[in-house]
Amino acid sequence: MKIIAIGRNYIDHAKELNNPVPKEPIFFLKPDTTIIRNNHPFFYPDFSNDIQYEVEIILKISKVGKNISPRFAHRYFDEIGIGIDFTARDLQNKCKEKGLPWEMAKAFDGAAPMSKFVHLNNWGDIQNLNFRLELNGETVQQANTSQMIFPVDQLIAHVSKFLTLKIGDILFTGTPAGIGPVKIGDRLTAFIEDRKMLDFLIK
Ligand code: ZN
Repeated sequence: MKIIAIGRNYIDHAKELNNPVPKEPIFFLKPDTTIIRNNHPFFYPDFSNDIQYEVEIILKISKVGKNISPRFAHRYFDEIGIGIDFTARDLQNKCKEKGLPWEMAKAFDGAAPMSKFVHLNNWGDIQNLNFRLELNGETVQQANTSQMIFPVDQLIAHVSKFLTLKIGDILFTGTPAGIGPVKIGDRLTAFIEDRKMLDFLIK
């Protein structure tokens, strides 16, 4: 399986990193070795001094698809969850300066803690979900999926022009404003609406 992650899908987050608002979705891949499940801890790596959290709504692809049109995109997923797109911001900034790929900064082991997936029937409209992240009990990121620049159907359409989507692939749909660093000893807790979905420690 593969993880496809969307960059800059909330205007306030693009602005906080001084990035232009994109005209089409930006995506990158994270390998399956980034996955952390079952609230297992994240171990702070020694190659970075600036690991940052990015909370994102995630969805799981349920049907093989290529060149999916936006109006049929909803048929290709039925479960969602929440995940953290951990980013080594110091390495990413170096990559950006030099025009290099982002893998060192985004694809390292453990860079994608994620919740269980829950059937969409439990939530209703995927484009009207509140979600948030707490760092040590204080809310640091909070948004509604209606604020996405590109809604999920457009993300699936765009990505599937380039990549065949397969059953079990996971899409990270972008982070809102409020990203920031973590340190050893921190606790991250993520919610969709009022349901606690993810709760783990940085070690
Ligand atoms: Zn992200």
